[in-house]
Amino acid sequence: MKKLNISNLKKTYGKYENKVHALDGINLEIEPNKFTAIIGPSGSGKSTLLHCMAGLDKPTSGNVYLDDVDIYTLNDDELSKIRRDEFGFIFQSYNLIPVINVYDNITLPISIDGKKEDKKYINALIEKLGISNQINKFPNELSGGQQQRVAIARALANKPSIIFADEPTGNLDSKTTDEVMDILKVCVKEFNQTLVMITHNSDIAKMADKVITIADGKIL
Ligand code: ADP
Ligand code: MG
Repeated sequence: MKKLNISNLKKTYGKYENKVHALDGINLEIEPNKFTAIIGPSGSGKSTLLHCMAGLDKPTSGNVYLDDVDIYTLNDDELSKIRRDEFGFIFQSYNLIPVINVYDNITLPISIDGKKEDKKYINALIEKLGISNQINKFPNELSGGQQQRVAIARALANKPSIIFADEPTGNLDSKTTDEVMDILKVCVKEFNQTLVMITHNSDIAKMADKVITIADGKIL
């Protein structure tokens, strides 16, 4: 299992009097095979932190180490290879491709990579997520909860070692939220994956092994 280490991370947006210190010196170790929850007020820097640690947004200064690799010293191709091979992403908006069916949405990251999907694993994932009857449908034929399950299946399709989730249950009712959390807990407990999740939901934060609170770009 890969370990993520964040050292003195800073991110500023804008210039001069409009300058915003979204991250102001974050030091953090994400423990492998655990569920880390990130909480904090709106605008405190949670999404910026998640994007920086997931290789999606280059910090202004500081380092993000995946094991011994300082990911922002890599070139674009190397960094996107890490994102594809090691990371899975789940956002509040599902970002499914409307013109291809559910199955193809799930396996898209693998086919983009020119690889062949592990059909047995993908089918087990589809089964576990309760979307077996939806795989030939298009995203707009599904409810919000079903679309989020598809997005989760897509995030897990490449068996990532770290799953990054930015308020994944923000648009879901409480029953669907529980079901989605059950699946993500299985990822950590049974598949030995690492989960880093931003949430506003204190019940979800209580499930975490570790809770990080962010305010004004700093860890409290
Ligand atoms: P959170 O996810 O905790 O709500 P964000 O990380 O989205 O917070 O934002 C942290 C701060 O950085 C906020 O003040 C926000 O307005 C600012 N910010 C985020 N993204 C951008 C951007 N692309 N350009 C300018 N400012 C941004
Ligand atoms: Mg956010």
